[in-house]
Amino acid sequence: MYLMNTYARANISFKSGCGATLFDDKGRDYIDFAAGIGVNALGYGHKKVVAAIKEQAENLIHTSNIYRIKPQEKLAKEISRQLGYKTYTFFCNSGAEANECAIKLARKYGAQNFKEKKYEIISLGNSFHGRTLATLQATGQDKFHPEIFAPYMDGFKFFNTIDDVLANIDDKTVGVMIELVQGEGGIKAFEKEAVKKLAKTLKERKLLLITDEVQCGVYRTGEFATSRIYGIKPDIITFAKGLGGGVGIGACVSRKSIFEPGDHGSTFGGNFLATSSGLATIKELKRLKNNGKLDEISAKFNAYLDDLVKKFPKIFEQKQGIGVMLGLVLHDGIKLPEIISLALKNRVLVLRSGAKTLRFLPPLNISKKEMKEGFARLNKALSEYEI
Ligand SMILES: *Cc1c(COP(=O)(O)O)cnc(C)c1O
Repeated sequence: MYLMNTYARANISFKSGCGATLFDDKGRDYIDFAAGIGVNALGYGHKKVVAAIKEQAENLIHTSNIYRIKPQEKLAKEISRQLGYKTYTFFCNSGAEANECAIKLARKYGAQNFKEKKYEIISLGNSFHGRTLATLQATGQDKFHPEIFAPYMDGFKFFNTIDDVLANIDDKTVGVMIELVQGEGGIKAFEKEAVKKLAKTLKERKLLLITDEVQCGVYRTGEFATSRIYGIKPDIITFAKGLGGGVGIGACVSRKSIFEPGDHGSTFGGNFLATSSGLATIKELKRLKNNGKLDEISAKFNAYLDDLVKKFPKIFEQKQGIGVMLGLVLHDGIKLPEIISLALKNRVLVLRSGAKTLRFLPPLNISKKEMKEGFARLNKALSEYEI
């Protein structure tokens, strides 16, 4: 192997896919309840996404951002339209980069709007914000801050509850970064009232609310932005995973125009290919939302998971999450890696989240047939688990 040793990979490699089904190099089919960690929002080989990519690839894949890029401008406009209010978007290539952009925006805002510069970002315990040095430091889990990669960047702290965050805002604080539903931290959704209180307090103090919707955004929880479900309008939202329909993209979306030329940039960010794919993806997702299909799929998937909890009460404690960003919390002592490998053996793909949650992020257009087959396989896998 000539790759860096960064992942504990399963010994399996996929060759093609269709809908929510993947095929390995021996032609065996797998039902995908993971969608590449929520990336393949419309599954594999979606006609409209593939057509948009093909057409764009034939015309142009990339030009520099020193020229206007029409699909990038269109996608930024469409994001604002989907949110329902005016926004300014910076495109990059990943979730971590989108959060880096949000941190830089906050620092500039903190320098320009207060007598004494404010720069500190407060995040929440069990959050995950990325793997760059700044976003690692924004991540509210000590295991992401090993001494070996020190020194880390100044200007970050985290607290476990929204009340503790509010109690610890000080003169240096410029804003709060929060995943409304924590993707890596056990599929935990914050309480609506607490989030509203946080938004209100930050607004009163002219501080920034940054929602990291890299995983929970782009219809994953039922709306284009999870912040809409919470009834808030964050100052900054970051998106990535599902936004490109499988093509790498990140977006930092701000209600305020803060940057000027020279402040920030990205060679590949917002390129023709990624933004064309993104545009086709979010238009199709909006259509699924408007015709009721998305909510129907969500209700059905939730019902299947409720059944699993009922059927395997010794394994599962409860279901949690919103829309089709869902987790089944395991009882203490149940071995999560073993359940995931039993599922893989039965050819259904699931994910872990934190230490004790089985995570589900299926394609948002998964068919009834694939759901039925996937849950039949998962039932079989779970009945093979020995308590
Ligand atoms: C995945 C994820 C990130 C990091 O995204 P990358 O594209 O891997 O850099 C950041 N925040 C959240 C909430 C995520 O789920």
